[in-house]
Amino acid sequence: SPSIVWLRRDLRLEDQPAFAAAAAQGPVIPVYVLDDDAPRQWRMGGASRWWLHHSLERLDADLRLRGSRLILKRGKAHEALAAVRRETGARTVHCIRHYEPWWRNAERAVAKQFELQCHDGNFLAPPGSVLTGSGQPYKIYTPFWRALSERMPPARPVKAPATLPAPEFWPDSDRLEDWGLLPIKPDWAGGMRAEWVPGEAGARTRLREFADRASRYGQRRNLPSVEGTSKLSPHLHFGEISPATVWHAVADEGGSVGTFLGELGWRDYAQNVILQYPDYGSRNAREAYDRLEWRHAKRELAAWQQGRTGYPIVDAGMRELWATGWMHNRVRMIAASFLVKHLLIDWREGERWFWDTLVDADYGQNAVNWQWTAGTGVDSNMFVRIMAPLTQSQKFDAAAYIRQWVPELAHLSDEDIHDPKVPPKGYPAKIIGHAEARARALAAHSAMKTPE
Ligand code: FAD
Repeated sequence: SPSIVWLRRDLRLEDQPAFAAAAAQGPVIPVYVLDDDAPRQWRMGGASRWWLHHSLERLDADLRLRGSRLILKRGKAHEALAAVRRETGARTVHCIRHYEPWWRNAERAVAKQFELQCHDGNFLAPPGSVLTGSGQPYKIYTPFWRALSERMPPARPVKAPATLPAPEFWPDSDRLEDWGLLPIKPDWAGGMRAEWVPGEAGARTRLREFADRASRYGQRRNLPSVEGTSKLSPHLHFGEISPATVWHAVADEGGSVGTFLGELGWRDYAQNVILQYPDYGSRNAREAYDRLEWRHAKRELAAWQQGRTGYPIVDAGMRELWATGWMHNRVRMIAASFLVKHLLIDWREGERWFWDTLVDADYGQNAVNWQWTAGTGVDSNMFVRIMAPLTQSQKFDAAAYIRQWVPELAHLSDEDIHDPKVPPKGYPAKIIGHAEARARALAAHSAMKTPE
């Protein structure tokens, strides 16, 4: 009987062990199930849905070149796959293992009804497998990375099967257009279409382009005005390229490529954190922070979301995010810190906004980085280290970046643009002064530490 390849964030054919294993056994039925209920508040956000639509479209086209096709179903995974079994007799399911809590539940439910074969392949090493000398998972990145590095390089990528044997009968499939994943009115995806090519081929192009500059990554990655990073994050999130493929394409480039490999390590680290703390996306890892009195400031939250805080570097980042679904990492750190410390708004508000607007929105990476920024995470205690956005903007030479995303300021000189003395017409005054914000955040932090 045919076997099912159950797809989630692994939308590729190269170095995709579920496809390789299924194809070696006989006819293959590739199935993507859209489940908007199981993740509850982590239902895919708007930007991710835009990406998903195009990625599925590409995967179907690539499958057709190999004599196969993509079957689309909606609902709970185990129910949708059971429907495929009724239509085709398939009893085995191959998948790549996932670590988001709702996916782990779904894997358990599928395993009750099918012979489920979970494969590794979305991380440098299987999450949960990198352990301390006493067999415990790591909580902190640096020792985690040291231990992971000892197991590197990852295995060489496996080639895509040349053909995928088709089943005798194809099951019914939804039509992608009927899923309504794309925005209609207003169509906010223009900036995304200009920036991205979702799918495996687009991922490979990004990787090729990045390989040429990978040796200078360390010097350039913090400069938002230049294209110094790989922009592979949405491709990696949706599994359009495997981290092993990325590793082997760049590891020999020399220079500061090691710094880049360490960022891939952060990606693995985040999965290890959510495996240990499944509710990391909604709960402070440091419980003391449950007592911090966050401000409920709707208008200020909206100003941050819309890039109208009066801090040019923050506003540039938030507008880049809205337009393209991506924001430079250095600017993500500045903008996130600004929300949490300067506006004293709960990190979970920021995390939610990122979840909806990032094309690379990832449960583990987003939660780990927000909790790190807020100082609430297992790996950090940074709350009292308050970033100065204007100094950051100067230090990392963000003038050209600000000009691109905040046109109201484009006429200002390289010196003035970070902190306009008089805000030009149409650009807001600072929502709060730096010194005042800093004092307020520190006071809230000390109040939290003092029991009543
Ligand atoms: P590169 O610099 O080229 O790095 C290569 C890859 O390494 C990235 O594609 C990514 O997969 C991984 N990586 C890099 N930095 C980090 C990091 N700090 N933590 C974990 N993995 C990393 N990244 C996401 O993929 N999804 C998110 O939802 C997300 N939310 C974030 C929220 C905040 C508040 C912050 C500060 C960072 C967040 N990041 C997130 C991490 C980081 O900003 C992005 O991964 C990076 O900017 C993506 O661009 P790139 O592909 O050019 O990265």
